[in-house]
Formats: sequence, C-alpha cells, structure tokens
Amino acid sequence: MATYEMGRQPFGLASPAAWLRRAGIAVEVFDLSRQPLNETQVMEAVRGADLIAIHLPMHTATRLAMQLAPRLKELNGSAHLAAYGLYAPLNARFLRAHGFASVLGGEFEEELCRLAVALRDGRVEGEREAAEAGQSVPRLAFVPPERVGLPPLSRYAQLEQEGRAAKLVGYTEASRGCKHHCRHCPIVPVYQGQFRVVAPEVVLADIAQQVEAGAQHITFGDPDFLNGPTHALRVVRGLHARFPEVTYDATIKVEHLLQHAELLPELQATGCALITSAVESFDDTVLERLQKRHTRADVERAVELVRRHGIALNPTLVAFTPWTSLESYQRMLDALQRLELEAQVAPIQLAVRLLLPEGSGLLELGREEGWLGEFNARQLSYEWRHTDSRVDELCLRVQELVQTATAPGTAVANSVAATRERIFAAVRNLTRAVESVAETPAEAEEDQQAAPLAAAAGVVLPARATIPYLNEPWFC
Ligand code: SF4
Repeated sequence: MATYEMGRQPFGLASPAAWLRRAGIAVEVFDLSRQPLNETQVMEAVRGADLIAIHLPMHTATRLAMQLAPRLKELNGSAHLAAYGLYAPLNARFLRAHGFASVLGGEFEEELCRLAVALRDGRVEGEREAAEAGQSVPRLAFVPPERVGLPPLSRYAQLEQEGRAAKLVGYTEASRGCKHHCRHCPIVPVYQGQFRVVAPEVVLADIAQQVEAGAQHITFGDPDFLNGPTHALRVVRGLHARFPEVTYDATIKVEHLLQHAELLPELQATGCALITSAVESFDDTVLERLQKRHTRADVERAVELVRRHGIALNPTLVAFTPWTSLESYQRMLDALQRLELEAQVAPIQLAVRLLLPEGSGLLELGREEGWLGEFNARQLSYEWRHTDSRVDELCLRVQELVQTATAPGTAVANSVAATRERIFAAVRNLTRAVESVAETPAEAEEDQQAAPLAAAAGVVLPARATIPYLNEPWFC
C-alpha cells in the first residue's frame, strides 16, 4: 500500500509485488493517493489480509501512514502491519507506537518476502524479530516490477510542455541510496554512503511495460542518477535504442553535473528533457553546513552548463535553515531572478523549511549551536527556531502565501510560467515587507558583475513557454 509518492506510480509497490508473487504470495496493491480506502475493492482486501505493508519513501508518506494505521487496525485487527522503505527505519520507534509490528529497511524486497512467507507458514514471531532487526542495505537481485493492479499512468503526474500535449509519465528506479553524506539528507543514516543498483535489464523491462501502458516520458527516481555514471549510461542508451521517442528526467547533484559535464551531450541526445538538482541554497555558509560539496559559484556554472545542452533544470531548495538570514533569503531570490530561474522553480521550493528527522546528521550541530528543539512526534521532525524571529515569521508567511496561491481553484495566470513568476514576485514583495533589505556595497557589486550568466555566455535560453515541468509539486 502507498500513501503518497509525489504523483508517481509507485516502484515501491510494483517491485515488492513481483518478489512476493514469485514467492507464491497472493498480493494486491493499492495507491491511496489515487484510490480512496473506502473503495469496495480496497476495503475487502484490507479486511481479508494477513499482512498489510505500507511503503514509506518520504516524510509525507510516513505521516499519512501513521494517521492511517488506526483505521486499518479497526478494519482488520488480526493483520500484521508492516512499514518498509527509506523512512521506515528512521521512524521505527514511532511506527511501532502506532501499531506497526514490523519495520523494514531501505532495501526491503527480500525481507518483506521473508516476513510474508513466515506469516503464511505460521512462523510469525521468530521472523518478525528478524525483520525488525533488518537495518542493513543488502545487495538484492532485483526482478522486473509488476505493475498490474496499480492505477493507470493517466491518473499520475504528467509532463507539461506549454503549447504541446501533456506527456504520460512512467516512473522507475535504476538505483537506491547514495554515496554522499549531505548532513540534512535522510538517505545518509540508512545507506551510510552506499548505493545499490537495479540491473539495467530489469530497469529496461520496467520501462518497457510502462511504455506499453502509454508512457511517453520516464522519471528516474534515483536519489542521484550519476552515483554510478557507467550504470546510468547503460540504462539511458538502452532506453533510447529501444524507445527513441521517449524522453526522461533524472535527479543529479550540482557536483556531479560539473564533474561529469562530458556526459551531458549524451544525456541530451538520449532524451533527457529535465534535470532536478538539489541546489538547496545560494549561501556558501549554508551549503558548507549541509556539506553539499558545492558552492554558489558551482550552482551558477551548473545552470549555465545544463542550459547550454538544451536541458531544463528544476532546482530544489532548502529555503529556510537556522543559518538563513533575511538578507540571504533576499539574495537567493535575486540569484534566481538573475539566473532566469523564477519560472523553473516550483513555488513550494521558496517555502521549504529544513526538516530534521530522527537520525539527521544535523542534530549534533543543532545541539552544539543551540538552535535544536524537541522532537515533535506529530511532525516526525525535531523543532528548531531561528535566532532571528523575523526569519521564522517570513518562513510562515511565505508558506501561507504559496499554499493560498497554489490551492486548487485559485485563479491562475494564463500559463504555469506566468503563474510561477507572479508567485515569485509576491514572495519578493513579502520579503521586502518583512524587512527592507539593505545590500552591502560589496554584495550589490557582486550581483551586478555577475550579470545574466546565460547572456554573458552567449547561451540561447529555451523559450519560457517550452520549459518542461512535472505537474505535481515536490514535497519531501
Ligand atoms: S547527494 Fe543528494 S541523495 Fe546524496 S546524500 Fe546528498 S542530498 Fe542525499
């Protein structure tokens, strides 16, 4: 069962479903972000299940699963409730308190099978212990995911390119985990600098079944697509050879974009339409605290590089951190505008506040620096307060503004680019209202010297109306 996966048809259901069926277990898969629990088929399956397993790939999914647990228990008190996926081990303590008997790790398929077989064979207790103890990330021999029973791709996020018909989007994963150690990243405590690959033939089989189901574009959900560049190239070469008309998007960190710049022409030639990159901040102090291994100057080089290869960039941000000041937030808006990224940044990114889940590499720093608060079990995050209360106030007001401006039914401008630009301008006005920011002469000069990078580099930008984007906003 899935609760929320950012508008993607869940790999985290399709992959374990294939493993479980191979082990002789009857499985039904439900994505509650697309089908309600009170649908007859869902209710019947829940009432008749021996094991109900919920995939937790992200924070929002975990909070929704905790809200869901009492209702599942009410419907079927004898079912074994399990949580699996990246956020499960991080939140094991709270998941158990909410009735989850088993909590499985990041590489979960084998463990989930073992648990299901044990339950079927009446060996629950011993295996439950084994499953709970499983915090490791074993190297699994993946099998092609089975997507039978999931809602059709037309019910999920689509790739919008203004002026053209929206594309149906499939979703797969060519790797999980990450070899980096960014301090704020929830992957680090689970994978501890390791990543695991899905064999190219398995990835391509998964893509093929989604193309068969109508996908015209594929999202690779790997935390970083270039953790293993050779593997990534094998996958996209295979994709392009077999389905030359299918485009794709992937997430690639700034450091990898620069380090593997020579791969960008091939990514573009094999159909890469969009790269999501965790820019996080334009403030070198913040970037250093997060141990992102890139600087503001690197971000600017990466933006120019990706553009030069005709690929759209979707930057993600951690806009509010304990080290963000009113001035640095204003400078972030200035930088986004100067780099002509206002229409490429999803408005929610301007409002993202640093999350501190259990196990975050920032907890120690927060204690040392004195800004870390108590763990909020409802939010599944440690609280933190900025030393300048105006920054917290700005954060709250930007969140309210973005929420109101993007709420369903809100009047929008005649294009997404225009809507985003309008929200960006409103955030800018709000920031000025919270404090009229006085730039230091040095900063003003720096911003002027850095004149529109693309223009300086002679880059022809894609027309705004053609910038592709996925029509489900990003939430952690
Ligand atoms: S590169 Fe991305 S996925 Fe890897 S640790 Fe850093 S934030 Fe996490």
